[in-house]
Order: sequence, then structure tokens, then C-alpha cells
Amino acid sequence: MTEDIHDLVIAGSGVAGLSAAVYAARADLDPLVLEGDEPGGQLTLTTDVENYLGFPDGVGGMDLIQRGKEQAEQFGAEFRHGRIEDADVDDQLLELSLSIGDTIYTRSLIVATGASARWVGAENEDELMGHGLSTCATCDGAFHRGDDVLVVGGGDSAMEEALFLAKFADSVTVVHRREELRASEIMADRARDHKDVQFRWNTELEAIHGSQEKGVTGATLVSHPEGYPRKKAESGVDVERETVDVGGVFYAVGHTPNTQFLDGTGVERDENGYIFTRNDAAGRPTARTAVEGVFAAGDVADPRYRQAITSAGTGSMAALDAEEFLEALQDASDSAAPATVTQEQSVP
Ligand code: NAP
Repeated sequence: MTEDIHDLVIAGSGVAGLSAAVYAARADLDPLVLEGDEPGGQLTLTTDVENYLGFPDGVGGMDLIQRGKEQAEQFGAEFRHGRIEDADVDDQLLELSLSIGDTIYTRSLIVATGASARWVGAENEDELMGHGLSTCATCDGAFHRGDDVLVVGGGDSAMEEALFLAKFADSVTVVHRREELRASEIMADRARDHKDVQFRWNTELEAIHGSQEKGVTGATLVSHPEGYPRKKAESGVDVERETVDVGGVFYAVGHTPNTQFLDGTGVERDENGYIFTRNDAAGRPTARTAVEGVFAAGDVADPRYRQAITSAGTGSMAALDAEEFLEALQDASDSAAPATVTQEQSVP
């Protein structure tokens, strides 16, 4: 089904998309917000958010998102379920094909589709995510004062999360599937040198124990001296299994930005798929991408900070940039249109 042409479509309904929607709706741009497969984004996987400005007692991740959605709707933003499967953004009118079969046309697009934290596929992770299992130490670390916790992964994020968690937890154990870290030397050294951070090499997480009421209470680890123990176990090789008592598990096995639908377009991305935004003529950051009329906000363009508050900030930037773009488009079309001849003028 094809429909009217929109001025602005915002892809994504996490903090970045909602912040863009509030700004755009207040500017009377009538934004259409597309909620994808993870409506509300990563915050909906977090219990309490304590570092978002304005909530001294903290706020639930889901609650914050719900309030943001109400705020955007109150100013006239329209929400619709739909994941963009394919985009043709190289003409002035942008064409978005949704997974449900609809095609949407728009003059501008804010890509705020976020980055999904990768999960490892351990038993019970669906049930315990947000209840002692987390993908964000900055968000949830402070709930683990005095706990023993696990961090799964061997890259820079895992080292960073382990060091952050060591401020609160009694002990942090990094569980890595090989015996060599992927992390940079400097980050690896910092983690190795920390007295409260231990490493379990050639080990993987097989199951997490606990409940939504009690949180995480333990985990089953598998190990094999040659690494990748879960694959080995699946192919029938004997592996060692151990159950450990822990109060929290953190995944740090990378993120995947949700930008696959931009394949084949002129929107520039890095080798991991994160969108490059451009600076203005004076060298200051904007939310513009390499394609006119396409803007990016939130984690989709940010492999570095990945905070709710920074996403909200770039969401507002994207809406302001889109507003300026649409105004310029309108001005250009007004000046290109033939002058209207009024009746008085036409009568000699
Ligand atoms: P990453 O470098 O891709 O590392 C992911 C880690 O998770 C790898 O060690 C990988 O193991 C492991 N892993 C992946 N899938 C797994 C699975 N299913 N089960 C168990 N382990 C799994 O991701 P990242 O650490 O998030 O870093 C992403 C980028 O951001 C990097 O370029 C990094 O340098 C950068 N970064 C920089 C900083 C900083 O400089 N302060 C902080 C964070 C991130 P293998 O090693 O075996 O593949």
C-alpha cells in the first residue's frame, strides 16, 4: 500500500527517536515515527535509570520511554509499527519499503534505529534480561554493590564494563571464549592489573540461574582448553561444566547498529555499520549524513558514548537540522514556482 508524502519520518522509537519526535512535532512537522521490532529501544531492557537528568530518584527504563512517547504524541507525532526493510534515499523524495509491505514517501528521514546489543544465547537470558542480566554496566552497575558478577566478552567494552563494575561489585570475572583478548593492550592491561578483576579463559556462559523476582543467583560456565567450548560441546566433545554463585551477569559481546536497510545508499557508514554524521562549514557537528534530507541520531551514529542522555541530545539535533532542511526546501520551491497573478493585477 502506498500513501501520502510525509515531510518527516523518524525511524526508531528509542530515546533518540522520541526526542526527535518531540522537537519535530513542536515545530509542526507532523512527524511519523516508525516503531521497529524493539519498540522503545534498549532502555526498555533496563530496570532503573539513575543517570538521566531530572530524575533524582531514578526512573524505570520502560517508564521513561512511555513518558517520552506520550510527550511526543501530545504535540502531534504519529506512531506506527513498521521496520524499514529497504530504502531508496538517493532521489529528492525518499522511498521507504516496510517489512509489512507498505511503501512510505518522505521529504526527510531521521535514522534513529539504534544499535542492538548482541546476546550470547545462554539459557534463561530472555527471562532474566533486565533482572540481573544486563547489556549496560553504566546503566545497571550500581545495583550490584557487594555482588560477585560476570562480564561476558573479550573486547574493549568487556574491559571497560569490568573496570566500571569493579567500583561496586566485590569481584568481577571476565568470561572469554578464547585465551587471547580482542581488547586494546591499554584497556586489557588496566583490567588485568585491577585487583578485583579475574579472568576465566576458554570459557563460555551456558545458562543463567535465578528468577525475575530474585534476580540472577548463579550461572553455568563451560570450558575447554582449546577455547570455544559451547561449539565443542554441541559437536559432542567433552567440556568442563561448573556452576558459580553470582548476583549479576553483563554481556559485552558487541553491538550491531541497525542500518542494514541503508545498504546500497549513499549514506556513509564505518566498517561496523555505524553512520557517519557530517560537520557544518565551520567544522561543528550536525546530525546530517552524506545524503541530503537524511539525518542520524542516537546509537546508530555513536559507537562511543551510547548513553540515553547523549541519544536524546542528538535526537533534538536531528529534528532541528531536519526543520532547517525542510524550510530550505520550501523556500526553494516557493522561489521556483511561477508568481501567482491576482485578478487585480491581470486587469489592465
Ligand atoms: P568487539 O571488539 O567486537 O568484541 C566483542 C567480544 O565479544 C570479542 O572478544 C568476542 O570474542 C566476544 N564475543 C562475540 N560474540 C560472542 C558470543 N556469542 N559469546 C561469547 N563471546 C562473544 O566489541 P566491543 O568490545 O563492544 O567493541 C566494539 C568497538 O568499540 C571496538 O572497536 C572497540 O575498540 C570500541 N570500544 C572502544 C572503547 C574505548 O576505547 N574506551 C570502549 C568500548 C568499545 P572473540 O574475541 O573471540 O571474537
